[in-house]
Amino acid sequence: MSTPTTTPDTERRLAELLEADRTFLWHPFTQMQVWPEDDPLVIERAEGNYLIDVLGRRYLDGVSSLWVTVHGHRKGELDEAIRAQLEKVAHSTLLGLANVPSIELAKKLISIAPPGLTRVFYSDSGSTAVEIAVKMAYQYWQLRGRTQKRRFVALREAYHGDTVGSVSVGGIDLFHQIFRSLLFEVERIPTPYAYRYEGEGDCAEACLRAAEELFERKHESLAALVIEPLVQGAAGMLVQPKGFLAALAKLCRRYEVLLICDEVATGFGRTGTMFAVEQEDVRPDLMCVAKGLTGGYLPLAATLTTEEIYSAFLGTVAEKRTFFHGHTYTGNPLACAVALANLELFEKERTLEKMKPTVEVLTRKLEEIARHPHVGEVRQRGMMIGIELVKDRATREEYPYGDRVGFQVCQEVRRRGIILRPLGNVVVLMPPLSLTPDEALWLGDAVYESIDAVTRERR
Ligand SMILES: *Cc1c(COP(=O)(O)O)cnc(C)c1O
Repeated sequence: MSTPTTTPDTERRLAELLEADRTFLWHPFTQMQVWPEDDPLVIERAEGNYLIDVLGRRYLDGVSSLWVTVHGHRKGELDEAIRAQLEKVAHSTLLGLANVPSIELAKKLISIAPPGLTRVFYSDSGSTAVEIAVKMAYQYWQLRGRTQKRRFVALREAYHGDTVGSVSVGGIDLFHQIFRSLLFEVERIPTPYAYRYEGEGDCAEACLRAAEELFERKHESLAALVIEPLVQGAAGMLVQPKGFLAALAKLCRRYEVLLICDEVATGFGRTGTMFAVEQEDVRPDLMCVAKGLTGGYLPLAATLTTEEIYSAFLGTVAEKRTFFHGHTYTGNPLACAVALANLELFEKERTLEKMKPTVEVLTRKLEEIARHPHVGEVRQRGMMIGIELVKDRATREEYPYGDRVGFQVCQEVRRRGIILRPLGNVVVLMPPLSLTPDEALWLGDAVYESIDAVTRERR
């Protein structure tokens, strides 16, 4: 596991780096007042599924460096793709010019995308991919002369990124509430979160009824539905019941509402199929990808859409139907080159096939974890896993947010040589697809022991 090579020199270097981190940085989604006490690791290198800190300690990357790493770190083919591209050009713009890797990648993406998606618009993060989908959907209806269709529908616990547009369609109060008055208004569909459902009858059916009622009443004003297909990640890995996505897709068709699937987290094998929508045979009008697109190497995103939407933007220059949107690094050649190599690896290594035994090991381990007295619910779809901790299993009482119980469990897991990052009281496991069955066993055991150690202290 850990093989520290600590010497007074490396210790001193770590102290200096942490001092500079504390002095100059502001970390994302982080309460900086407590950050220095949280014993931060300073990562310097990586190897396969492991991150290595400045002291030489190795840690299993249990959340794929925030949901991005696919085939592991320092993957030969991916390193080489960047080196080879670097020998040619690092960056050239897509505004007024084309470049080789962005063309090759677009062609490849369309060849593996759900049927009907034929066009690729690049950007650089999941947030911008969603922002673009929202603006495209909006402008599409304007151009089609259906100018009343301006409203977006999203799920109540949705997470679609952190720019103002993507926060508008987001619905996680903890992150988004403070910005409410800055955002555009969105129609909401309740999240199918059966474990915390307090209404009558079946939870998912109630959500679908609410959606149907909304669509029936307001479809003339609705531009698009935005949804994370199969799993709502940042909400705590909320897994949708079978048929839920397909039912919403059907509603969209019936009421002429565009369907935007945000596959930023679920895309590229994370749920067991290349894209989550495949599992429900759903064909989105717009699809957003980012995170795993480059195998976790460089920031790159894409918004895919149909010929129907694309062609609505065509016209003479004077007609001004152009999509006036673009980012400076749109279609960056280095990022596109490594993304292409990433997609080729899926074929060459039969990644989706090879991950199956590992997923099965995780599923078995999760059955044990689910029996723990402080685990309320375990949710899994492929390599996306959420373990919801509860103070009281019978009443489903939550641990107070300020107690940071999920965080404590992750600190305990870290002592066992594994890096995880929770979402509140939900312990998230999101390992690289290259995780081995043996590593899955170890991960499962470490998580069980850590939950037990932390919750025992509090009993
Ligand atoms: C992470 C995430 C985003 C935002 O992606 P960034 O690259 O962090 O901007 C959007 N949607 C979903 C579903 C995500 O998980």
